[in-house]
Amino acid sequence: MDNSCHALCRALVTQNGLQPEHVDISQSVLYTSIMGLLLVTEKERELKLGTGQVGLCNVGNTCFLNAIVQCLSHTRGLRDYCLLKAYLQDKHSNQEPVLMNEFSKVLAALWECDSGDSKVNPGKFYRIFKEAVPYFSGYSQQDAQEFLRFLLDRLHTEINRRPSQRPAVIPNKEPTYSRFRISEEAFAMWQKHLDRDDSKIVDLFSGQLHSSLHCSICSHYSDTFDVFCDLSLPVPKVTFFTSFLVCADDVCLCICVSHTCCINTEQSYMMMLSVVKKSEYGRIVTLKECLDLFSQEEKLDKENSPMCDRCNRRTESTKRLTIQKFPRILVIHLNRFTMSRYSICKSSVTVSFPLTGLDLGPFGPVDCGPVLYNLYAVCNHSGTVNMGHYTAVCREEEGWCCYNDSCVSTIQEEKLQSNQAYVLFYELKSCSVHRK
Ligand SMILES: [Zn+2]
Repeated sequence: MDNSCHALCRALVTQNGLQPEHVDISQSVLYTSIMGLLLVTEKERELKLGTGQVGLCNVGNTCFLNAIVQCLSHTRGLRDYCLLKAYLQDKHSNQEPVLMNEFSKVLAALWECDSGDSKVNPGKFYRIFKEAVPYFSGYSQQDAQEFLRFLLDRLHTEINRRPSQRPAVIPNKEPTYSRFRISEEAFAMWQKHLDRDDSKIVDLFSGQLHSSLHCSICSHYSDTFDVFCDLSLPVPKVTFFTSFLVCADDVCLCICVSHTCCINTEQSYMMMLSVVKKSEYGRIVTLKECLDLFSQEEKLDKENSPMCDRCNRRTESTKRLTIQKFPRILVIHLNRFTMSRYSICKSSVTVSFPLTGLDLGPFGPVDCGPVLYNLYAVCNHSGTVNMGHYTAVCREEEGWCCYNDSCVSTIQEEKLQSNQAYVLFYELKSCSVHRK
């Protein structure tokens, strides 16, 4: 504190063009005044905030938007940044940040302290969003996760601290063999990313994935690093049978819930018995299992494998994903929708997830220690692929609230775990690795 006081004193003196000998401010006075100012600002801001427990009107199949906006509205770092309009000083571009302005207006209306309205209309915000992202025009139901990605991307572009047209400087990749090669390479790639893309959105949501490719011919490891704003996790398939009937001709009928198909053979009866024996019946999948599946080693055949740096050709290889840099806000997408040849299927397996202390350490760099996250919002999807509905559940000062378009109601913590959880929002609690 003493050092920063000195620095601040110097800065004030030089900025005002004052002569140091004419300035008579003691450090403690300066410190007290600044702390006082900060406290006043903090208080003023606190006073201006309502409960935030305000619903959003559905303006025509917009539950996907409402649910995501409520989750983002409960992302404190983003909310305060919007309410204080800090992006106006932050952004590089001279262009009007139209979408960010409108998004901030929605958040401001949601957090207004004595708003007579019990709900906010996001219509104008949605219209401006659709102008920016024509992919979303039309009135059909949209995917909440896709909307989140497009929204964060657009907001980032508007409030980027770096100029938009900047030639990427590609450094010559010198092979280094130091012990810290991976972390050095990852850091260099991250810096390169920040050179072009640096915003509050990046500060909060961006992390870095490390993909390690191991060549089966020459044993060479090729490493690539990619920025991510959410982790899209596969949901493991669970096959279980809910009921069976014995027919008159002693042939069993099994109904397999996860594939919604009926098998009418004796074999299926045996299959069912073995499944029940393995106590797979009604099993709940854990979030850790989804993460395990995401980061498990994947065998790639020659055709699907990228080039091996050393062999200089496609070879059989194995690929593994780990998290190199942990984001402050971790968005987890439970990928319930899978494309089959003719249609899209939705998995309604219950995925249980921890509300506090989700440890991502095991999915990070070797020996990175525990990296703990706490849950603060969930975007739920109920119904089927074509007839679905999105709602949000968010953590409040006391307990949890469910946001179902314009309806807001409290919800018991026990009811958070359901087979509808679709996008999970976690906040970093502690991280023992050095965050650069
Ligand atoms: Zn090779």
